[in-house]
Amino acid sequence: MNEELFLKENLLPQDELIELLRSSCHRQAGEVDLHVHSAYSDGEFEPACLIHMAKQNGVRLFALTDHDGLKGLPEAMESAAAEKIKLISGVELSADLKAEQPDNPFGKYISIHLLGYGFDPADQPLVEAIAQMKLWREDRNRRLLQYLEETGIGITKEELAAVSGISDYVGKPNIARALAAKYGLKNWKDAFAERAGETPGIFKRPEVKAIRRKKLPAEKAIKLILGAGGVPVLAHPYKIGALKEGAWRLESFLERLERLLEVLKKYGLMGMECRYSEHPDEVAEALLEMAERLDLIATCGSDFHDLEALPLKKIGKISGCFIAGENGEVYDD
Ligand SMILES: [Zn+2]
Ligand SMILES: [Zn+2]
Repeated sequence: MNEELFLKENLLPQDELIELLRSSCHRQAGEVDLHVHSAYSDGEFEPACLIHMAKQNGVRLFALTDHDGLKGLPEAMESAAAEKIKLISGVELSADLKAEQPDNPFGKYISIHLLGYGFDPADQPLVEAIAQMKLWREDRNRRLLQYLEETGIGITKEELAAVSGISDYVGKPNIARALAAKYGLKNWKDAFAERAGETPGIFKRPEVKAIRRKKLPAEKAIKLILGAGGVPVLAHPYKIGALKEGAWRLESFLERLERLLEVLKKYGLMGMECRYSEHPDEVAEALLEMAERLDLIATCGSDFHDLEALPLKKIGKISGCFIAGENGEVYDD
């Protein structure tokens, strides 16, 4: 990584960074996308290709936010400079609140995604935490692959490598792609579907859900981003499964979210992703109002991964394209 160049060109003083993020939801539609994945995590395209697509779509401010990884940032930086797009460093960290934590407002396990923006990608504690997260993911993958083998739907390392990206990242979507290719699922997302006792739906089985990977505590993830000079932002709040359990309506979801935000703000959370490709307009509007009231920076992002989601999920196209259904939940990657 040409870190020196990244620092010089892309690290903004925090007040400028905050100003830039604050403007993101108010700029002309399509001008900003602060949530995109590359083949360095579970996306389809290399960063250069994403930047090119962003340029074609009229995006002027962009963040690459790979899951638990920073490897795509140097390539994104070079391409953004060539295409004259403003790039800020980005990452999406998986984190959790344990049920038994005294400050957990619901007394049950909560899994969240945290976006980090504008941090120093060479920050040592952040780099070390990301290396640790990779080991936790590999440990989970080993146990998951063993379960699949014992269930009679094993996949080999070679089959997995064939559907993985350009880096050494392997998440559940990669494993789902390998299952789909070998066992004839129509779509890899069927592995996450609600179907009992069949290969589609395999990731919904309780015994598979119990094969968890260790995650960063939310407090630690937020403090890592802050420590690296960045801005921590809660990703896609409407996909947090723990806020939608039991009987729930938009009002009860918002009330639960606000209680969660109070805790995350104490840890140092600075923003919330309000405009998002799977947030219906009424949800986005309610989140914008809540962000304003709680003094959180409202951000926007598409979460573009691959062409399968087109035309509904497209770089720079952020609101008004709800696809996940009322119970849409984030995949545990
Ligand atoms: Zn996410
Ligand atoms: Zn994402």
